[in-house]
Amino acid sequence: MYRSVLVPIDISEADLTRQLIPQVKIHAKTAKVHFLSVIPSVPFYASLGLAYSGELPDKNGLQTKASQKLDEIVKQFDIPEGRVQKHVVYGPPKDQILKLADSVSADLVIIASHQPGISTYLLGSTAAAVVRHAHCPVLVVR
Ligand code: ADP
Repeated sequence: MYRSVLVPIDISEADLTRQLIPQVKIHAKTAKVHFLSVIPSVPFYASLGLAYSGELPDKNGLQTKASQKLDEIVKQFDIPEGRVQKHVVYGPPKDQILKLADSVSADLVIIASHQPGISTYLLGSTAAAVVRHAHCPVLVVR
């Protein structure tokens, strides 16, 4: 039985989340479920010329919006509140996913293989990095 399951969520991909729900329910029956949303770092937006144009909320604003979105997504999983923990952090998604997996002593990571539209790849770059570098089993959902 797993004790600590990490579920990284790309909050911009609703279809992926729907795919993950049944698998998370099966594998997280008695575990603590850590949901993680990583906000790619602000320099990424800056490189698109958006950071100073008023189109982007500040860091706190972004984090608040991401947390609200994650709250909505997590509700769909219908897991008792006491067993859920939500995390929103900044940085490169793959690094942050691997880091949190270690810090919550995850014994399973459940991740979607890639965005539905990008079917030419077997594994997206985030999923591939997590499979390669995680210190625990990784369940890749397709
Ligand atoms: P693609 O390259 O097709 O976007 P990814 O490998 O990036 O595929 O995404 C696969 C999975 O990785 C997502 O379903 C999600 O579980 C996780 N993931 C990707 N980006 C993030 C993110 N910013 N925060 C949390 N998880 C993410």
